[in-house]
Amino acid sequence: LRSKLPDVGTSIFSVMTQLAQESGAINLAQGFPDYDPPQVLLDALACHVSTSGQQQYAPMPGLLRLREAISAKTAHLYHVPAPDAATEITVTSGATEALYAVLAAVVHPGDEVLVLEPAYDLYGPAIRLQGGVPMYVPLRLPDFHPDWDQVAAAITPRTRLILLNTPNNPTGAVLTSTDFDALAELLRNTDVLVLSDEVYEHMVFDGEPHRSTLQHPELRERAFVLSSFGKTYHATGWKVGYCIAPPALTTELRRVHQFVTFSVSTPTQHALADVVPTTALYDSLPAFYQQKRDLFRELLTGTGFELLPVPGGYFQLANFRALAQANESDVAFARRLTQQAGVAVVPVSAFYHNGHDDGLVRFCFAKREATLHAAAERLRTLT
Ligand code: PMP
Ligand code: GLN
Repeated sequence: LRSKLPDVGTSIFSVMTQLAQESGAINLAQGFPDYDPPQVLLDALACHVSTSGQQQYAPMPGLLRLREAISAKTAHLYHVPAPDAATEITVTSGATEALYAVLAAVVHPGDEVLVLEPAYDLYGPAIRLQGGVPMYVPLRLPDFHPDWDQVAAAITPRTRLILLNTPNNPTGAVLTSTDFDALAELLRNTDVLVLSDEVYEHMVFDGEPHRSTLQHPELRERAFVLSSFGKTYHATGWKVGYCIAPPALTTELRRVHQFVTFSVSTPTQHALADVVPTTALYDSLPAFYQQKRDLFRELLTGTGFELLPVPGGYFQLANFRALAQANESDVAFARRLTQQAGVAVVPVSAFYHNGHDDGLVRFCFAKREATLHAAAERLRTLT
């Protein structure tokens, strides 16, 4: 068989999770909470899963009552005109399906897609599967902030799309309104589209608001904006997300979505539609995650890890050079940490197409306090 992705192995998240299981390690590698969704959401699902008449296919774009709830939430949260539930909102099988379907919908063979690296591992392969060419623009230490001159230099007549991810996985960096202005200026006389992955929209810290691409009227016109209920409601296993985009772009997305999954689990959508209007469930998230971030950072003091700032998201990047063996790669260090110290992490080179290694690993701090304490205790044993 001639592979379409011959150079791609199993996702680093599966690899490290398996290694964690084999080694009895605490899994701070794959990004998922070790606590449950809010009880109201679990109760709502239990109710809808046993309601007659709610167990068949949902409408292809998503349940209308869920899309209406998403529309109202978006207007409330970002002070923007409510996206039209009928023509601008599509419910997808996680942000993952939305990413894949958007790329499949708009990338033609030979089209270039700008990817700011380090980047979530799905982006490059999904672009290449469409015959697209990922054009990587490096984000670099210390703050992993985009250099818009470098982005400008990467734009060519073949550029079809730029991928944004704010807050960023793995770096935690967040885009500011100045960034959006700079990008808008770059794209003004082009037909380059924007795919904005905002799955960590509720995890922005230190009193800063999350800046959404939806708030920039010029970019909004050319953007697909994604979120994930998996992140917002501690329910990564539910695999429900959504995409907001102008009607013409939504039409193209749905052309693909209808043939990828057709529609998303019906009782799950009903349960989400019940809770999305409850603002308290997401208003509390920045403080909830900031507390975890601060605790984890405090616990790692004195371990030898040098911690990078975390303005958003639920990952902590750490430089491990002081703890490394001679010439130890981040992959080798992550394996050693998992197998010897019993704490699984992700080597950050996994987020670079060329394996760029800055001596960094990624910890997920979306964990109960007891888990963070136990992990820190183990990390202190590493010398
Ligand atoms: N984008 C980013 C940046 C992510 O971190 C994740 C989840 N880890 C996804 C997309 C996928 O989201 P979902 O689980 O809703 O498919
Ligand atoms: N997004 C999660 C992470 O970055 C993992 C998702 C997955 O396992 N595919 O760890």
